[in-house]
Amino acid sequence: MAKRDYYEVLGVPRTASEEEIKRAYRKKALEYHPDKNPGDKTAEEKFKEAAEAYEVLRDAEKRAIYDRYGHEGLDQSGGTPRYEGMDMQDILRRFGIDDDIFAEFFGGRRTGFSGRAQARGERGSSLRIRVKLTLEEIATGVRKKIKVRRQVRCTACNGTGARNSSDVETCSTCRGAGMVGRITQTPFGAMQTATVCPACDGTGKTVKASCPACRGEGRVMEDDTIEVDIPAGVHEGIQLSMSGKGNAGPRGGPSGDLIINIEELPHEHFTREGRNILHELFINIADAALGAQIEVPTLEGRVRIKIPPGTQSGKIFRLREKGLPSLEGHGRGDLLVHVNIWTPKKLNDEERRLLEQLRNMPNFKPTPTKEDRTFFERVRDVFSG
Ligand SMILES: [Zn+2]
Ligand SMILES: [Zn+2]
Repeated sequence: MAKRDYYEVLGVPRTASEEEIKRAYRKKALEYHPDKNPGDKTAEEKFKEAAEAYEVLRDAEKRAIYDRYGHEGLDQSGGTPRYEGMDMQDILRRFGIDDDIFAEFFGGRRTGFSGRAQARGERGSSLRIRVKLTLEEIATGVRKKIKVRRQVRCTACNGTGARNSSDVETCSTCRGAGMVGRITQTPFGAMQTATVCPACDGTGKTVKASCPACRGEGRVMEDDTIEVDIPAGVHEGIQLSMSGKGNAGPRGGPSGDLIINIEELPHEHFTREGRNILHELFINIADAALGAQIEVPTLEGRVRIKIPPGTQSGKIFRLREKGLPSLEGHGRGDLLVHVNIWTPKKLNDEERRLLEQLRNMPNFKPTPTKEDRTFFERVRDVFSG
C-alpha cells in the first residue's frame, strides 16, 4: 500500500509552522485515540499514521529530507519511524503524551494550577561532537574553539515563536502556569495531580501568529563556535558534558547538553600507557659501550640523558613526572625511555674492517648474567613501579 503524504495525513499545508503541525496532530490523536475508539482497528491505524507523520514533520532535519525527497529519501536516511506493530502505549509515551493528559480532554476536571513553575517548555536535544587532542594538549589541558551546527534561540522573536510580542497570550488552559492540575477521587479522598499543560507544552503561553524567521519554533539552525575547556589528563573514549550547550529547546525551552567525545591523536615520539608515556630510543653500539649524553624528546621539549657505559639493549630509563597528569589532579606519570641498540644495516670497507677486528675481541663475546633480566621482567618492573 502506497504511503500517504504526511501533510495530507495531518491535514496541514506544506508551509505549516511547527505549532500548526502540533495542533493538527493533537486533533488527530484525540480523534483516533484508542480510549475513544476501543477495539477499532481503523482508528488505531489512523492514530499510528498521524503519529508517524508528526514524528517526521516535528523534526526540522527529517522534515527537510521529506520535503525534498519524499518517503523514499527518509527510508534511505533511516528517518522513517516504524510504528506498524508497535504497542500503542509506547507510541503515546514517545510523544510525552500519557493517558493522564488525554484524560484531561476526556472529561477529567481541568483546573488552573498555580504550583511551582517546574515546567519551562520542552528541552532541546543533546549535541555530540568529537575533539581530537595531541598528547601535549592532554598534558596541559586546553581551550578549544569548536564549530558546531546547532539550534539556537531565534533572535527575531527571542525564542517566543511569535511574530510580535502582542501575538503572545497567556495560555487559557493553564492560565500561564505551564502545568495543569486534575482532581482525582481516590479511596483516600480527593487528590490533585499536576502534568505539563498540553495546550502550551508547559510554556504558559500561546501564540496567535508565528514568527516568520523560525516558523514559530523559537529556534533556528545556526553555525556556532563554542569554546570548550578540556581538563588535563583526559584520555581516548572519555566523554565530557557541558550543560546547556546543546540544541535550544522549542519556544524558549531550555537547551540540551553538549557531549564531547575525546579522541587521542597518535604521537610522533610517544605511545601512552595510562599516565606514563613511552619513548623508543635508538643508540649505536659505540654509545652503548662507551657511554654518552643523548638527547630525548619530552612533552615539554628535548632533554639530555646520561647513557652509562655498558648499557644493554632493552634498558628502560625512567624520567620521573615527565608523563601525563591524572584527570583527578593528583600526581603525574613518568616518561619511560626504552633503549634499543642500533645494528648497522650496511657497512663501508672501513667499517667492515674495524668490526672484523672487534669480532673476536674477548669482551665482545656475550656473557649475560642474572642482572640482564628478561624483557618481560623489565616491563613488569617498570609498570608496577
Ligand atoms: Zn522566531
Ligand atoms: Zn498552558
